[in-house]
Amino acid sequence: MGGLKAVAVITGGDNSIKGSLQFLQDHNGVTHVRGKIVGLKPGLHGFHIHALGDTTNGCNSTGPHFNPLNKDHGGPLDAIRHAGDLGNIVAGQDGVAEVSIEDYHVSSGFNLQCKASDQAPLYL
Ligand SMILES: [Zn+2]
Repeated sequence: MGGLKAVAVITGGDNSIKGSLQFLQDHNGVTHVRGKIVGLKPGLHGFHIHALGDTTNGCNSTGPHFNPLNKDHGGPLDAIRHAGDLGNIVAGQDGVAEVSIEDYHVSSGFNLQCKASDQAPLYL
C-alpha cells in the first residue's frame, strides 16, 4: 500500500444521512473510494466532490464540483469531466449505499495531497 489516504465523514444537517468514505490513492494513479452512507432515499444519488468543505449553508456553501483542471462537467467514465464527478451511487430500500469506486480522475495527480494540507474536502 503506501498511497495517499483521506477520510470524509458525512453528516446531514437536518436529517439522518450519515456515513464515512475512505479515499486511497495508489501510486499508479487510481483512487479507491470505499465506504457506506445511510439514511438516503432508495435509488440513485449523484455523487460528487465539491470544491469547498464549508457546510454552514448546506450544499449552497460547498462551491462547485471539484474541478482543478477547469474542464466541463461529465460522467465518471468521460474523458472530459470535473475531477469530482463520480457519477451516482445507489441506495437500497433500506437507505444504505455501499460505495466502492475506482477512479483515475479524482486525484488529478495532486488533489488529495493538496486538499489534505489545505481544507478538508467535502464529498457528497
Ligand atoms: Zn461536475
